[in-house]
Amino acid sequence: MDLTLSEPYQALQAEIRTFVAQYGHLSPKVGGGRKRPDQKTLDWQKRLLAHGYVGRTIPQAYGGAGKQPDIMEAAVIAGEFARANVYAGLTNQGISMLVPTLLEVGTDEQKREYVGPTIRGDIIWCQGYSEPGNGSDLANAQTKAELRDGNWIVNGQKIWTSSAHYADMMFLLCRTEPQASKHEGLSYLLLSMKSPGLDARPLKTMTGRSEFNEVFFTDVAVPETQIVLGRGKGWYVANVTLKHERLMIGDASKMTARLEQLIKLLSTIDIDGVKLIHMPEYRDRLLRLQGEVIAWKAHNLRLLTETARGEESGVKRMIVKYGGTMLGFRLSSLAVDALGSAGLPYESLGEDAETDDATTWNIDYMYDVGLMIGGGSNNIQKNIIGERGLDLPREPKFLAGMR
Ligand SMILES: Cc1cc2nc3c(=O)[nH]c(=O)nc-3n(C[C@H](O)[C@H](O)[C@H](O)COP(=O)(O)OP(=O)(O)OC[C@H]3O[C@@H](n4cnc5c(N)ncnc54)[C@H](O)[C@@H]3O)c2cc1C
Repeated sequence: MDLTLSEPYQALQAEIRTFVAQYGHLSPKVGGGRKRPDQKTLDWQKRLLAHGYVGRTIPQAYGGAGKQPDIMEAAVIAGEFARANVYAGLTNQGISMLVPTLLEVGTDEQKREYVGPTIRGDIIWCQGYSEPGNGSDLANAQTKAELRDGNWIVNGQKIWTSSAHYADMMFLLCRTEPQASKHEGLSYLLLSMKSPGLDARPLKTMTGRSEFNEVFFTDVAVPETQIVLGRGKGWYVANVTLKHERLMIGDASKMTARLEQLIKLLSTIDIDGVKLIHMPEYRDRLLRLQGEVIAWKAHNLRLLTETARGEESGVKRMIVKYGGTMLGFRLSSLAVDALGSAGLPYESLGEDAETDDATTWNIDYMYDVGLMIGGGSNNIQKNIIGERGLDLPREPKFLAGMR
């Protein structure tokens, strides 16, 4: 088998290498991304956009480069940025979840207003889905919106809302049709986080930082036109977003960079003069993980190929969130084990703790536990894989009055 790149891809590879050589020193640090992007990151994002290394297949009318989907191009770009350890662009709930949702089901006006500023990093979004008591049972969301004089009037509460304390906008799942069935009573609204009556209160996680929030709505007015796809279509739209969220969370390109960092870490630390990478107990775990990262990358490419061909991927897509988060957690577990006591500076972690490898791995390790829950817990993912992917019997439902 000839695995050398054909001429156009070699040309793209050379172009990116020139770009990295010329501008690489301006790249923000790889990783992070759980804070509002700073000016350096925004400038870098705009540079990547101008060269079509991000937003590549988004139509030019909406701020992208307007290229045809090409999985080899995507793989060459991701590979070159990972190889050079250079920041490959912003990933956040707006870019990875809302933008593909709007491109799929938004109006032309919504695409023009939101896609460009979001991929440039100028609008930061948060996701208003989970509520106290309605996390896994998302379709039971009770936050209400009633139409009055051209505005949706929103009342209720969301919880675990990542980034809400610095986001500009929210995509919100709420109940607009109280008479309709659970799934058909929901709508999907886009609203400003500066709306009067909206109160976002940060919650501290075990990383020591405030990463998510509880958000309260008291008569929050949202213009009638800020609905995606229409009344009662919220469950469908929410699931389009969830599909992209689960792919983002399990994304293989992040794994490659983390594996490289892990190899570096194990090559640096030694016990009695022997580097950890040469010790069987660490080397075995590392090799197993390396094999899994390679397999995960191949799986990702297979899904990209099927998407580009317009084919359904079925159960292969359903395993991405579960498999990706388990693999990510095992990568950071090995790093924390290798760091020994340096991997446990629990007390010292704060809002800005992203200063060296030890604290970064420590934060990743704790955050990875959260990723097994966020975006639909891994228990729920196993139900979905079993019931919808493998046609296993459905889990028993409680009858009314049994709880
Ligand atoms: C880091 C992080 C970021 C998040 N960001 C956001 C965000 O930005 N926006 C947002 O809306 N939400 C967010 N969430 C919330 C997340 O989506 C919910 O926590 C998740 O869906 C689980 O809901 P819950 O917390 O209400 O748990 P519950 O639904 O109460 O579940 C509790 C436990 O029971 C298990 N369980 C429940 N039902 C079943 C079942 N049928 N079968 C088997 N096991 C079951 C679950 O797996 C879990 O272990 C985030 C969560 C985390 C951890």
